[in-house]
Amino acid sequence: MEMNRAERIRCRGHALAGWVVLLLVMACPALTRAANVNRDPLFRDVVKRILEGPGVFNHGSRRISPPGFAITTDLCPSTKPWNRGLYEALVALGRKLGKPLPVGIAISGRWMERYPKALAQLVRWNKEGKLAITWINHSDTHPVRGNFLVNPKVDFTKEVEVQANRMRAAKIFNSPFFRFPGLIFNFSRMRQLSGMGYVAVGADAWLAKGERVRNGSIILVHGNGNEKFGVRLLKAFLRLKEKEILTGKWRVLSLEKLLTESARVDPGLQFISWVQPKSR
Ligand SMILES: [Zn+2]
Repeated sequence: MEMNRAERIRCRGHALAGWVVLLLVMACPALTRAANVNRDPLFRDVVKRILEGPGVFNHGSRRISPPGFAITTDLCPSTKPWNRGLYEALVALGRKLGKPLPVGIAISGRWMERYPKALAQLVRWNKEGKLAITWINHSDTHPVRGNFLVNPKVDFTKEVEVQANRMRAAKIFNSPFFRFPGLIFNFSRMRQLSGMGYVAVGADAWLAKGERVRNGSIILVHGNGNEKFGVRLLKAFLRLKEKEILTGKWRVLSLEKLLTESARVDPGLQFISWVQPKSR
């Protein structure tokens, strides 16, 4: 089909715009990644502040009202079957609540490779509105030896990028969040991560380590079958709080909501909590 002059110009314009976007993506991946975060302007602002920090978002404001917390579960590489019961408990609570329960899932590439069926089930629950999942990049191979991702032999950028691509391909790339394996990091890794446009999500209530849930907490348990104790504690905690959760006295929040609400009630709050973690 022959194009007229106006159509030809329009076509060339589109191609040119396409090239500009492509060049922009190549020149500044951080910029375009941050652009994925296009929700609440306040959320964008807080993310920007953390990236400029750089720092780790370990918890929200202790003064949000009604009080609330965020649940995060890690899917590190594992040889054991996942803890399906944990997620079923979250689905069940959401059903009682009348809306899907928000949960942050930090997922590693190795786990995705090994457990495609479990992943498909999580994706299905999310799609069916039974869970509201915020996917968190948890690195591709999740190195443990030699101090996790701090190990200078590890290609950190590759660990983050390969996993991001894997998540994109699986259509589960929906947040700017990253979680360091073992919650172990150092300042130079933080700088690298910020440069790539990711916000590090820490946790102040790693239940299996005896840390307690407070207002604004980020709870951490492992859903990969390696931390049955933590999972039991979370289930017990949710049972204990169930009535208050169902009546809205306590709220289960997404990470995004925890950040934005915290910024609203506590504008001066330092989300940037730069804490030198213990090495192993
Ligand atoms: Zn992990």
